[in-house]
Amino acid sequence: CGIVGYVGAWNAAPVLLSGLSRLEYRGYDSAGIAVSDLRDGENRIEILKAKGRLQALKEMTDNGKAVSGTCGIGHTRWATHGEPSVANAHPHCSKDKRIVVVHNGIIENYKELKEYLQKKGFVFLSETDTEVVAHLLDYYYKGNPLEAIARALGRIRGSYALGILFKDQPGKIYAVRKDSPLIIGRSENGNFIASDVPAILKYTKNVCYISDMEIAELTKDTITFYDVDQEVLEKEFRTVEWDA
Ligand code: GLU
Repeated sequence: CGIVGYVGAWNAAPVLLSGLSRLEYRGYDSAGIAVSDLRDGENRIEILKAKGRLQALKEMTDNGKAVSGTCGIGHTRWATHGEPSVANAHPHCSKDKRIVVVHNGIIENYKELKEYLQKKGFVFLSETDTEVVAHLLDYYYKGNPLEAIARALGRIRGSYALGILFKDQPGKIYAVRKDSPLIIGRSENGNFIASDVPAILKYTKNVCYISDMEIAELTKDTITFYDVDQEVLEKEFRTVEWDA
């Protein structure tokens, strides 16, 4: 699949859709975006999904212009678990959109995690392996996103690139990967995550390749990298020689 995320000065939805259109070769079973909009002290997260090609989502949102908010994540899906459908389209979320995730890869032990979480009262709305990640993060989230991510990663087996929004952390995107591609991009107008460079080339050529089990925290003007012990990592950005 293709993942993209943006937080910055602009409206996020058109940036996400533009990024996804460059990643559509990675999957076109469905497309979806989640955009967070902080208004009157309340963080509203809107999730929009459409089955089939990205064009359907573009039409649904007037090319993103109908969605307000400057922080968001998006996904085009190549289904591995669960048929192509709106219910199985990403982003997936936990109750009240407390945690919202997009995922590329396969969670190998999702069945046992799903049973474990269902026993704890979590209600699943899709057939995907991905949805366990949202509920597992919710289960571990007590106010510290890094802690929740580290604990969830300790239980997940498989491959993943994840883009994550926490409802009570407005204006922040978290990203982490293991055995699935993910890059971080920065620019004067905001910061990005993406499966691949072409998704963000229109906006920046300044990228950082994160390694397995490194966590990135993005705000509109900062990018901080951590290891799973929540220690800050120094990472280098480089200017890629690609043509947009
Ligand atoms: N395994 C996930 C799913 O089937 C993610 C697939 C993908 O990488 O697009 O929904």
